Order: sequence, then C-alpha cells, then structure tokens
Amino acid sequence: MTILRGTCHCRRIEVEFATAQAASDLPLRACDCSFCRRHGAKTTSDPNGKLTILADNGAIERYRFGMRVTDFILCRGCGSYVAAMSREGGNERATLNVVGVAVPELAAREAAPVNLDHETSDSRRERRRKLWTPVEVVERAAA
Ligand SMILES: [Zn+2]
Repeated sequence: MTILRGTCHCRRIEVEFATAQAASDLPLRACDCSFCRRHGAKTTSDPNGKLTILADNGAIERYRFGMRVTDFILCRGCGSYVAAMSREGGNERATLNVVGVAVPELAAREAAPVNLDHETSDSRRERRRKLWTPVEVVERAAA
C-alpha cells in the first residue's frame, strides 16, 4: 500500500491518496483542456484507490465550466487547483492534481499529454468510472 500526501500552498487543504500501486507505476496525465493548461496540472488516479480531501471549513471553492458536470476543487485561501471531482454511477470520483498539492513522489515526473476535446458526455462518464479514484471530502474546524 502506498500513501501519498500533499497540501495546497497555504495548507488549508490536505490530501491523502491510498493506492495499492507503487508511486512510479501510477499514471500521470497532462490534460489539454483550457483549465488544466493554465494551471500546468498533472493528474493521477486509481479506481481501486481512495482519495481523502481534508479541508478547513470554507476552504473549498468549487469551479465549473463547459458541460458543468465537473467540480474543480480550488483552495479559497491560495487558489491552488487540488482535484477535479464528479459523481459517476452513484459515487464521487476524483483525479488528483499532484502539482497543485505538491506530491513529492510525482510532481516532478513527466506527464503523458491527453486531449479529451472529442469526448461525449457518455464517454466522459465511462472513462471516469474506469479511471478516477473514489473520493471523500472531510471538512474540519479551521485551526
Ligand atoms: Zn490553500
């Protein structure tokens, strides 16, 4: 079991990503969408893993654009792009931006470019069900 940890720049949001895969075996993707490019995002996920987002109360901003089915999780304190989330087949699933939360094992690794412009909303859901990580968001009282 691998546990990867990271935080946003101001540390109001922490993440813990549990996976049976070695960090070096996890996929790392550089999505070509206009939002991910602006952030220089590199994302990873494991459908059999578990992602926990631990955030101070009120620290999470959810941003939507395009088809508006995806919540981009941003930190209200520092603007870091933490993860993208959506509800797929009754479960919340997410892909983690290892750059935004500075996961040491992955943030410097080269990512594989992906372009998803031609996806339909059905194929998008299918891909996320297969690839994205079940996620739990936990809010805590701010220190
Ligand atoms: Zn922050």
